[in-house]
Amino acid sequence: MSHHTPLISMIVIGLVLAFALGALAHRFRISPLVGYLVAGVLVGPFTPGFVADQGMAHELAEIGVILLMFGVGLHFSLQDLLSVRAIAIPGAVFQIATATLLGMGLAWWLGWPVGAGIVFGLALSVASTVVLLRALQERRLLETDRGRIAVGWLIVEDIAMVLTLVMLPALAPAFTAAAGAYNWSALVAPLLITIAKVAAFVAIMLIVGKRVIPWLLHYVAHTGSRELFRLAVLAIALGCAFGAAMLFDVSFALGAFFAGMIMSESELSQRAANETLPLRDAFAVLFFVSVGMLVDPLIVVREPVAVLATVLIIVLGKSIAAYAIVRMFRHPHSTALTISASLAQIGEFSFILAGLGVALALLPEPGRDLILAGAIISILLNPLFFAGLDHILARKPAAAPAVAPDVTPEPAEEPAREEIPLTTLTDHVVLVGYGRVGKFIAEQLSITGVPLLFVEEDADRAAKLKSEGKATIAGNAADPEVIRAANPAVARCVLVAIPDAFEGGQVVAQARETSASLLIIARAHSEAEIEHLKKHGASQVIMGEHEIAKAMIAAIPPTPPAGSATAEPSPPVAPT
Ligand code: AMP
Repeated sequence: MSHHTPLISMIVIGLVLAFALGALAHRFRISPLVGYLVAGVLVGPFTPGFVADQGMAHELAEIGVILLMFGVGLHFSLQDLLSVRAIAIPGAVFQIATATLLGMGLAWWLGWPVGAGIVFGLALSVASTVVLLRALQERRLLETDRGRIAVGWLIVEDIAMVLTLVMLPALAPAFTAAAGAYNWSALVAPLLITIAKVAAFVAIMLIVGKRVIPWLLHYVAHTGSRELFRLAVLAIALGCAFGAAMLFDVSFALGAFFAGMIMSESELSQRAANETLPLRDAFAVLFFVSVGMLVDPLIVVREPVAVLATVLIIVLGKSIAAYAIVRMFRHPHSTALTISASLAQIGEFSFILAGLGVALALLPEPGRDLILAGAIISILLNPLFFAGLDHILARKPAAAPAVAPDVTPEPAEEPAREEIPLTTLTDHVVLVGYGRVGKFIAEQLSITGVPLLFVEEDADRAAKLKSEGKATIAGNAADPEVIRAANPAVARCVLVAIPDAFEGGQVVAQARETSASLLIIARAHSEAEIEHLKKHGASQVIMGEHEIAKAMIAAIPPTPPAGSATAEPSPPVAPT
């Protein structure tokens, strides 16, 4: 069966196994990426049983790369980078240089040529966006200074890697030629051609794409068809990537990155990002599975020292470099440690770079195996790093040394996770969600003067509420810490005004835990949701559609009493 339908087998078996192992990894509080990679190892040629078609897996992975890079572009924010450029740019450059040099050292020890060393070192220098964002989100550090520095740092690393992916094919011949045999002047022409092609592509994207893409998105958005909008986003992402590769010989990755970057400037970007998420997730999973297929697990047995050295470069070498430079810029110990822990792993970019390195015959295959083994182990170790960080920072205040009077005091240390202060309000109304429903409630309640506490997940909306001086907790109300900080036990009631009843059920359950007698009113859109919310402890559930129906019925003019003349004659019926 699998011989006749290799594509279907690859997609189905890959996704099913990835789901099972991803869920298992999640259960053990490990990044699901590890589960996806292990799924790949299981369907790969190095383990017994089903072996997926490698060529097929590779092409599917390319779509995954395009969509991942599109996502990187979509989230790329020049503003975020500029706000932390003073530390993020030198920090990332120093860390990339250190990791590359350490990687080159290991490659030299393994007897590989310089080109292999450079690719290997660069692959070890760039952290995984997926792993980093998840770790920061979990600790609510994304909105803090430390979080912003880590994200800015990652953006610099991403840019460096995009440039590497573009330039590497042009530079490869110089490194693969026999030592001394290469005429370095011959490198100038291909390099200039590559630069010219990239410049032409970038110019076209900035001049034409910047006008056409937002116009197209607006046009499609106005058709009101969600399906067409999704298709437009996807067509733009894939089309730009493919066009870049076909017309300009530029990598798929760069095309997709630019398409995402241009789209991120449009107001519709948030929607565009959401629309592509499901497909992006599915293909990203297939990308990780196909990377896993390349892993030869026996590398750990065959080359234990090299694997250990690779892991040490990722988790220790990079961390020490990051810690040192952050401290040099006089940021607190906690910031330096958080950034070190966040970046002490490698992921998707390293896999893409390793793949390209092998394809260009720059990197020997064992190099890719080491990178993959290093990635899996470093992602596995990452939560331990953060646990260590929690431990160190929890101990810190007691151990803080006295500061000599003539030394400039250090900036205050911050905790490993952002604590949410308990609200001081009592007899208040906790309003979860400040959207269409929440805004209306807030307007009405502000007239009555009831103390109101907002809980809003959207960072921009929460920041706006705070700037208006309104009591607000920024965060997901389904997070027990967030709901506890709202102190529902002493509140007058909790209004769960969010549209997703599944998440609403979580919020209701968390709030119910704080008090059995608390009045909790939730929002639903169907009978099943009403039941779900009630089951989780809602005192009352309001179904939007019922209320709309009631209001519509109430708006119908009453039937005039029988026999009375109508005020206005009915319009004449047009002759047919
Ligand atoms: P609307 O559907 O227009 O009433 O908007 C719902 C609002 O609730 C949006 O502002 C969301 O950001 C917010 N929201 C959705 N889920 C949560 C949650 N779990 N915790 C806090 N806010 C939420």
